[in-house]
Amino acid sequence: MSDWREALFSPRRVAIVGASETPGKAGALFLRNLISPEAGFTGEVIGVHPTATELMGVPAFPRLDAAPAPVDLAVVVTPPATLPSVIEDCGRAKAPVAVVVTGGFAETGAEGAALQRKTIETARAQGVRLVGPNCFGVISTQSGLNASLSIGLPKKGGVSLVTQSGAYGMAAYSRSMDEGMGFSKIAALGNKADVDEADILAYLGADPETRVIALLLESLHDGRRLFETIASITPTKPVVALKTGRHPGAQRAAASHTAALSSDAAIVDAALRQAGAHLVEDGFSLLEVSASLDRQPPLRGKKVGIVTNSGGAGVELTDLLEAQGLAVPVLSAALQEKIASTLPSYGSPVNPVDVTTDWARFPAMYGASVEALMTSDDVDAVVPVLLQRSALMPEVAEAIIAAYARSRDAGSTKPLHVCWVAPKAADGNRARLLAAGIPCHLWPAGTATALAGVAARPAIAPPKPAIVGTAAPKRRDADGWASAPEAFAMLAQAGFPVAPFAIVSSASAAAAMAKEMGFPIVLKAERAGLTHKSDKGAVRVGLRDGDAAAQAFIDFERRLGPGPALMQPQAPPGLELVIGGRRDPSFGPIILVGLGGVLIEIFNDVALRLAPIDAREARDMLEGLKCRRLFQGHRGAPPLGVEKFAHLLADVSQWFQAASSIAELDLNPVIADGDRYTIVDVRMRLA
Ligand code: ADP
Ligand code: MG
Repeated sequence: MSDWREALFSPRRVAIVGASETPGKAGALFLRNLISPEAGFTGEVIGVHPTATELMGVPAFPRLDAAPAPVDLAVVVTPPATLPSVIEDCGRAKAPVAVVVTGGFAETGAEGAALQRKTIETARAQGVRLVGPNCFGVISTQSGLNASLSIGLPKKGGVSLVTQSGAYGMAAYSRSMDEGMGFSKIAALGNKADVDEADILAYLGADPETRVIALLLESLHDGRRLFETIASITPTKPVVALKTGRHPGAQRAAASHTAALSSDAAIVDAALRQAGAHLVEDGFSLLEVSASLDRQPPLRGKKVGIVTNSGGAGVELTDLLEAQGLAVPVLSAALQEKIASTLPSYGSPVNPVDVTTDWARFPAMYGASVEALMTSDDVDAVVPVLLQRSALMPEVAEAIIAAYARSRDAGSTKPLHVCWVAPKAADGNRARLLAAGIPCHLWPAGTATALAGVAARPAIAPPKPAIVGTAAPKRRDADGWASAPEAFAMLAQAGFPVAPFAIVSSASAAAAMAKEMGFPIVLKAERAGLTHKSDKGAVRVGLRDGDAAAQAFIDFERRLGPGPALMQPQAPPGLELVIGGRRDPSFGPIILVGLGGVLIEIFNDVALRLAPIDAREARDMLEGLKCRRLFQGHRGAPPLGVEKFAHLLADVSQWFQAASSIAELDLNPVIADGDRYTIVDVRMRLA
């Protein structure tokens, strides 16, 4: 097989290197899994064993290169020290890919890391791709391949799972057995010494049997490549992602606000969301949301319609959905009238639709309300709450399934999810709903988490990166920071709205320049290594005459030692915003926007994206800020020209992406006054 990924998931012949009949040995477990009649693997299985010629009824050979060709996939369970030579045999046998289950490599220390390096060097030299080492293995329900530690194959379905640890490979099996979740492929990548997530995602993105991709990330080495791969898939196929291992770790030594406010976890989240992935916070939700997206379309809006036989559960679900940023809007008069005609007089058609406890009419009322909501423009998703009696009645499940089928026939593409609160005795009805493709989440909390997970962000294609380079300031201090006048000049040259400024080197020059500039003015001491100027009393605002400017200059020299000062006209009062940029070792250039000023770290109200972005993405960033309400004008201040600011933000992101000599950038604050934006402070660190 020419494509190693085809060979990995649909091999014609699999060899277990280290196959065994001894119970308890990995070689026996893998052999049994591969030949298990329940799995029904369609290819051939052979063993590699020093002496045996047959193991559990399959032929065995002393070495891989003595086995008949072709061997598409080698599953290796032999001790770590054997690996380089086993991989060499794989190369000689022309096996395109090896899954190395064996542990004892980089995860154990320096010695293991060296052995892992040697193994990978061999694999590269032999043209063999390597999954692992130290991994759980791979599964494909289509080809019946269980080359993993899983005790069985999960049911067939559209979810493919890419994970680092094997734990969720096991969990997939149990959720499949208990919840009917269907899987297509599972790949656990272990140490990811060669094959990584992006390699597998690219294949699954094009795999017709994979309808949803579930991704569990622990570590990450090439964030930008992963971002680009996911972004290329999500316009046509949902990707659900969980990143674990989010401990803040060592505090970043951060002299810029941007560095301080863009933790690794925040960047990963921003990148996954920007790439269009559905973000979840735990492994249970990863599988639940993925299975839901295999059964139902994503939620493309915020409005949820609820039908319930319990007012209390409806209220709780409404609260939880709203806490997730979703909405349960009052229905239009026409829709209310339509729904009310099927309810008793004391029922409520408002939303949540309350069908009351009139249980004899449950099937008719649930059916009619669900269908009316599914086919209206009032809501983007529909959630029947089935609580106790309604859940226990098979007729209710049937009525919902029939209403669902009728609304799909009528062209409805809204997701339908059931909120399930019922005793085990009702499980048969739940299984019926699941089999009809309707997810049933446990309790309002599980339902709200799942709905938030299936909500899709509109795909925003990134602009083409600019390639023009930018000449960087030449002078920098020992840590790489450019002087303020040079940084300002560079921004002005790029066309950004920086405040006019002048450098003064004496008290009398300060007085003279102030008169020229017009009052009020602002004076800032310029000293090497002086980062947050206002912390050191190095910013004086509201200077109203030449004498005040001269006095401020003298005061700086007295307290901070001799040196020049930067003078600016004082910008009219306004909202202080921050725009920042930083180059992350894994994700490359990132852009930040948020509430700025001197209290920026305290409010921590920022949004991040990978640069470059366009104005649409910039608007999306601004909509994600808590301070967005201030944009509408606040306590007499005029509303902000948000559109103009979004363009400024996008332009800065594109310029920063191309200005590869700038490692870190803080424009803080950008003072916003109606439609005017003035950059009054800049920090720029050169690479
Ligand atoms: P630093 O961030 O190093 O402390 P800044 O230059 O950002 O110094 O100034 C601190 C604060 O002073 C700003 O957040 C802003 O409130 C005010 N300020 C600075 N320059 C101006 C200006 N030209 N016009 C109006 N206010 C200013
Ligand atoms: Mg500042």
